[in-house]
Amino acid sequence: SPYPIKMKGEVVRGFGRGSKELGIPTANLPEKAIDALCKDVETGIYFGWAQVGNDNTVYPMVMSLGWNPYYKNEKRSAEVHIMNTFPEDFYGVELRVIVLGYIRPERDYSSLESLIKDINIDIQVARNSLARPAYTDYKKDQLFEIPG
Ligand code: ADP
Ligand code: MG
Repeated sequence: SPYPIKMKGEVVRGFGRGSKELGIPTANLPEKAIDALCKDVETGIYFGWAQVGNDNTVYPMVMSLGWNPYYKNEKRSAEVHIMNTFPEDFYGVELRVIVLGYIRPERDYSSLESLIKDINIDIQVARNSLARPAYTDYKKDQLFEIPG
């Protein structure tokens, strides 16, 4: 098993696909963080934990790993939706994630409704999975230890 997969990097701007407008903002990891990922990691939707900047709290997340259309599908993109309401955006701030499992492959959507429906199911799957002790333990991982 490739898990846990640990990634970190300063949040970069996405392609402005309006995720926030859909109520599901996704923070993009920088190229460097994605290049560190093994080439044969499947594209699709994953679940795990996330932490932002100097905030100690570790939140549940779902991450979409895909091919980046902006780079003619030659580079990958990793977009993380954190299950928390933040008071403001955190572009440029370090995002740390531990990926613990795979939910499903990416799908083509004919309607916005079916996309949002799937994302909400993904969020439920993530919450249920992460409640298992083997997964909660990773909230205490060294990656999430803030010095000082
Ligand atoms: P972009 O196309 O730049 O990724 P989005 O509409 O997907 O724009 O919004 C993502 C940004 O929203 C993140 O980079 C982050 O700064 C902010 N944000 C606020 N709340 C969240 C959250 N719960 N999960 C992820 N990003 C969030
Ligand atoms: Mg985004």
